[in-house]
Amino acid sequence: SVTPAIFRDLMLAAGAAIHTKRDWLSELDGVIGDGDHGITMDIGWTAVRARLVTMDADATISEVSEAMAKAFLDAVGASSGPLYASAFRKAGEAVSDRLHLDAKAMVAWLDGLCAGILARGGAQVGDKTMVDAWIPAVTRAKEALQGGADVIGCLEAAVAGAKSGRDYTAEIESRRGRSAKLGARSVGHVDPGAASAHVLLDAICEKLR
Ligand code: ADP
Ligand code: MG
Ligand code: MG
Repeated sequence: SVTPAIFRDLMLAAGAAIHTKRDWLSELDGVIGDGDHGITMDIGWTAVRARLVTMDADATISEVSEAMAKAFLDAVGASSGPLYASAFRKAGEAVSDRLHLDAKAMVAWLDGLCAGILARGGAQVGDKTMVDAWIPAVTRAKEALQGGADVIGCLEAAVAGAKSGRDYTAEIESRRGRSAKLGARSVGHVDPGAASAHVLLDAICEKLR
């Protein structure tokens, strides 16, 4: 299962992956938004990584998640700032009674994360946002858990769900965020927030594997 130390390594890997994909994410945002999504996410995750390396070694996964929320909120002014701050906060609350994450707790963490995004942003499936990646990620992870999958199996299912959700965003019209004003012209283009959601999950899964 995932100890607090492993959890930090997973989060550091997630941040490193965002940094690697920064320009691509901003290019996606340049097509249907204002072209800064890679930069805003990289700023947020750089703040998270700076916070993680200075935190007490005995901090719980819940406390680490809360610190990530604060770091993201303070560092990021764009839409994704409060969305991921709320996500990390709720994810941490969902596992506040856990010292380690087994498969069930990892899925609860992901479920909390997604619930935080929904609570903060009010988007629904089909609005062409990061929600279109996070919802199927959580749904697939829950199905994997039901089927008896371990932590990695649940994360693999989440990655697959996020990928199909990301690809689905290219087929639909935006109804939320900056891209909403493009209307039908947003069709044919992947939502950057959905793309970064897949990047995060993929990096977490790869690091654990
Ligand atoms: P900004 O639009 O302020 O420049 P970013 O570029 O960092 O912020 O993030 C844009 C992404 O935020 C979009 O691609 C979309 O996935 C996501 N997003 C925007 N509004 C919402 C919302 N209400 N709920 C969920 N996600 C949203
Ligand atoms: Mg943007
Ligand atoms: Mg912006």
